[in-house]
Amino acid sequence: MKSIVEQSLSSTKFMPFWLDSPDAPSASPAFSGFQEVDLVVIGGGFTGLWTAILAKEANPTWSIIVLEAGRVAHGASGRPGGIISTSVMHGLANEDRVFPDDIDILERLGMENLDGFKKALADYGIDADVEWNGEMTIAVKPEHVADLKEEYELHLKHGHEVQFLDAEQTRKQLKSPMFVAGMWSQKRSGIINPAKLAWGLKAAAIKLGVQVHENSKMTELSELADGMLVRTEGGKISAPKVFLATNAWHAGQRDIKRRIIAVRDHVLATEPLSQEQLARIGWGNRQGIYDTRTQLNYMRLTADNRVIFGGSVSYHFNGDTAPKCDARADTYYSLAEAFYTTFPSLKDVRFSHAWGGPIDYSMRFSVFFRKYFSGKVVYAGGYTGFGVAGSRFGASMGLGILTNNPDPIYKLAIAIEPSGYIPPEPFRWIGAKITFAALSKVDEKGGWRRLWLNFVKVLGFPF
Ligand SMILES: Cc1cc2nc3c(=O)[nH]c(=O)nc-3n(C[C@H](O)[C@H](O)[C@H](O)COP(=O)(O)OP(=O)(O)OC[C@H]3O[C@@H](n4cnc5c(N)ncnc54)[C@H](O)[C@@H]3O)c2cc1C
Repeated sequence: MKSIVEQSLSSTKFMPFWLDSPDAPSASPAFSGFQEVDLVVIGGGFTGLWTAILAKEANPTWSIIVLEAGRVAHGASGRPGGIISTSVMHGLANEDRVFPDDIDILERLGMENLDGFKKALADYGIDADVEWNGEMTIAVKPEHVADLKEEYELHLKHGHEVQFLDAEQTRKQLKSPMFVAGMWSQKRSGIINPAKLAWGLKAAAIKLGVQVHENSKMTELSELADGMLVRTEGGKISAPKVFLATNAWHAGQRDIKRRIIAVRDHVLATEPLSQEQLARIGWGNRQGIYDTRTQLNYMRLTADNRVIFGGSVSYHFNGDTAPKCDARADTYYSLAEAFYTTFPSLKDVRFSHAWGGPIDYSMRFSVFFRKYFSGKVVYAGGYTGFGVAGSRFGASMGLGILTNNPDPIYKLAIAIEPSGYIPPEPFRWIGAKITFAALSKVDEKGGWRRLWLNFVKVLGFPF
């Protein structure tokens, strides 16, 4: 296996496949000078772009500026697997764990969010290779089947149209000797090219009259008597309201740093599969897939039939969001091994791209909202790797909270209860190192690793 893995990564580009595209737009100009506007949005990922669009749709006369420190989609939004989930809370089981009393309303909000997502793609003519083929969770060990069945029952109870598949039926969908059962939610969810989505949202925002400035990091945020002052290297902006859509970055707020741990997740893209290679694994329905390995691997096809295969988390001291090791082949060895174990029939397939991306890990495992400076500033983040569609919900809820919208949904627990604290450095680094080491080997070796993960679960970390 070692030589296959080394060879498979020998000519790999260490950058997101999605961003390596001739469709990438040129950078919008950096911000300079002084302006007074109605709303400043910090962050040009999905959350920031949806915030600008939704705010402009609701208030066409507002002047809105989006400031992005780097380039649009160069944060998490240009790096995901691109599996679109309906849930706004990292899945139904997590909704049940965190807010069991609100589960039906959260489900309704998730469906409305997805309807709004689809409508925006159509209204703004965003071509992002979207395919509405549903999503599937696949059990990879017989001992995982009971939990999957329980999740299936929960989905039925809350009105989802889901199918439970045995090993043979699952392998008819996607052939792997590891797969022992599956839960397929056919009617909702899908897959999308995330960079094309972000670039489409950027174009839509600009068309609506939003000013988008790239290479424009907010360097300071301070309070004025009647609003906020945002500084960049090139200028200043004053506004009554500021929306922090900074995901794993804390934007100068210690409170965000306490509640978010910026972990890295890693992804591989294969070269395009030939029709013959694709036939070896089936996948005629092209659905997005999560498996039940403790490290959680996810996989999907691209428009040109590459397999995107992700799920190998790491943590770097102080939440480094661009560690140098992301550009080294050995960082991806264990992920490549997991790929070939899953698809032994694809041992002749090489990886064209490999990359890492920042995950805004929160104790709640889903978006939360925090108000700062007497409510003039709001932060929305904490998606924990489930924000491709959820970020639209985060933007919409965050805006309602920022503008003191009286609708009762902004009084729900998800809107007002923050996610819990995560221990500071160096405990954070030590805890994360032990946990991720345990996660990567617990499935094959168990032992102390399972004990440690159970202990961490008792502390409230939902692995
Ligand atoms: C490897 C990986 C796989 C994933 N797979 C999936 C998936 O399959 N399905 C799914 O639903 N979700 C997935 N996700 C999660 C999803 O990508 C994120 O939840 C989503 O992109 C978050 O969007 P965002 O706009 O909040 O964050 P980002 O896209 O990270 O945007 C935040 C932006 O803020 C900018 N910023 C930070 N500080 C400042 C500052 N001071 N001034 C100006 N700008 C600043 C950053 O440069 C960044 O561009 C995945 C994430 C990763 C990393």
